[in-house]
Amino acid sequence: MNCQEQSILFMNPVFKQMLWGGDRLGKDWPYQIPGDDTGECWAISAHPNGDCIIKGGKYDGYKLSILWEKEPQLFGNTGLDQFPLLVKIINAEGCSSIQVHPDDAYAKNHENGSLGKMECWYVLDGREDSTIVIGHNANTREELKSMVEKGEWKELIREVHVEKDDFIQIEPGTIHTFGGGLMILEVQQNSDITYRVYDFDRLTNGKPRELHLDNALEVISVPPKPLAECIKKTGNMPENTMNLLIECDYYRVWKLDISKSVAFKQDKPFMLMSVTKGEGNLNGTMIKKGDHFILPYDYGDVNLEGELQIIVSACNCG
Ligand code: ZN
Repeated sequence: MNCQEQSILFMNPVFKQMLWGGDRLGKDWPYQIPGDDTGECWAISAHPNGDCIIKGGKYDGYKLSILWEKEPQLFGNTGLDQFPLLVKIINAEGCSSIQVHPDDAYAKNHENGSLGKMECWYVLDGREDSTIVIGHNANTREELKSMVEKGEWKELIREVHVEKDDFIQIEPGTIHTFGGGLMILEVQQNSDITYRVYDFDRLTNGKPRELHLDNALEVISVPPKPLAECIKKTGNMPENTMNLLIECDYYRVWKLDISKSVAFKQDKPFMLMSVTKGEGNLNGTMIKKGDHFILPYDYGDVNLEGELQIIVSACNCG
């Protein structure tokens, strides 16, 4: 047996039911979902609200957070006190609330030392009428405040159509939400801090969900980043090579469409991989759509074969 095979860390994802969820993670993906309102698959996560358990191999049954704490050498001894990233697959049948996340500095001061949240979305699938909200149309902070207070949401939000293979980087301070019909792979900082700005006046159990307007108005960036800098088309990228989608302070994300084979070295502290299409093998180990795994530190040569798509991410640490 190749000893490398044992050291791939496969994840058991955690599922979340949401107001806006659906059944596609059970129909189009090989998962046992808790209900037909399943909105999120926390695919690679060590967050206390959804800590993945390692599947198979030497560390079978360990929580990812525990492995991070007890075996830091597997992750390149980064010195970070928590696992830095979180990878999700999102099935949106309805839209989520319009929200904004703080940056690290604001979260540290206002949210008990938590991390802020930078996030990015790779659109796996969409409908002709699928949209997202990213940014707003206010020119000054006073204008933003006044539009929020008057409830002029339609005029305020910047809503755009997105389609399969669009890649969207969402910086802290950017108001955002996704609309119905989208399947998204999300890579984000390991944080669950969200300030809800507007929930389309929906009721849950007869009551509106709590909004966090004071915090939101403090963290929303004015003016927002131009749209062209937020969204990237990735449909025509070459096959059988690592295509870098984004590099920021927290993570790097690549898209890998394999039609034959590709070889590279795992030279990062650790690498997160999510198979989003097809099947094949990694150094002889079978992998298929719906598998999520970590290649640990010093894993060495990676040979991938088959017909598959993988979204690869790594933290920008170490
Ligand atoms: Zn978000």
